[in-house]
Order: sequence, then structure tokens, then C-alpha cells
Amino acid sequence: MTGKPAAQRASTQRTVGSITYELTRKRVKNLNLRVVEGGAVRVSAPTRTPLREIDRFVASHEAWIGQARERVHVREASADQMQDVYTDEECLRVFGEVSDRIYPLFAYCLPIQPALRVRWMKSRWGVCHVAKNYITLNKQLMGKPRAALEYVVLHEYVHFLHPNHQAGFHAEMARLMPDYLARRALLK
Ligand SMILES: [Zn+2]
Repeated sequence: MTGKPAAQRASTQRTVGSITYELTRKRVKNLNLRVVEGGAVRVSAPTRTPLREIDRFVASHEAWIGQARERVHVREASADQMQDVYTDEECLRVFGEVSDRIYPLFAYCLPIQPALRVRWMKSRWGVCHVAKNYITLNKQLMGKPRAALEYVVLHEYVHFLHPNHQAGFHAEMARLMPDYLARRALLK
């Protein structure tokens, strides 16, 4: 299970004053400034806006960028702390309860209940290892609602039947968990 990365567009790196930013030209109406993971600054600009105007725009937002970077830093620090808050055993106990409730739905095709492993992962909630009959779950799920955790565990189980995310996968998810899309939204 991975988030689809946004389509990659050509971008250039520029520096104005103390701020380095990544500039992407897009078919947009306005200049748009964002501070992303790690505190990096991204700017998207209409195709014809002159560079000096973009630099001026970025420079005029220096204070705002500083505040946004501070917020990103706090958020990332608290995510790092959570890595140590829950032991693997605690995660396995909580995730195992969910897996034990879901497994009977798959007993007809999986004679041995898949084992669970836990890891701290940055970009995936779970991984299904079909050939080795185990599921890896992201420890960050400890901070998510139970309904979302159940969705991820079921999602990985369904991968034993459908390795990819094509129509058959979604049909099976909908059959077993009619509100799976609402649950998935809780992960955002
Ligand atoms: Zn998946």
C-alpha cells in the first residue's frame, strides 16, 4: 500500500536571501508557496511570471516560511518520538487482535494464519508478503483510529487474493468492508 506520488514536473532550484526554494512552472493562475517535509520550500508559478517577481514573492514571505518550518519541525519531532513510545510487543498485541478477527474470513484460502511483523515505515501502512505468508504493519498505526487499523489489516489480507489494486481488489474490499473508503480516509 503506497501513496501515489504526484506526477513529477521539471523544477529548478533558486536562492533568494537566505531562502532556497524549488520552483516549478505550472498552468496555474497564482504563485503558490509551500513548506514540505524537512522544511523544504516549494513554489509553483504560472508559466510567464518573471523570475524576479517570484523571488520577490518568496522574499516577502520570509517570516511566514520561518513559522511554517517551525511547525513542520515540531510535527516531525513528535512523529519521531512516537517511534519509541510503543514497543514492538505492544504493537503486535493490538494489531494481532485485529488480525485474529479478520483471519477467519480468509481461512478458506489461507490454511495458516499469516504472521505479523511491525516496523516504523515512512510511506506505507502495511506490506503483504504473499510468498512468505506474513504482513508487515507500520507502527504509526498505533496513533490511528481502530477503524483505520482494521482497514489496513484487511487491505493486506486481500492482497493474498489480489496482489495489485485493480478492480478485483476493490470489489473484494467493498464486499468485506463496505465502508472501507471512509475508513481509509481516516489515515490522512
Ligand atoms: Zn495495497
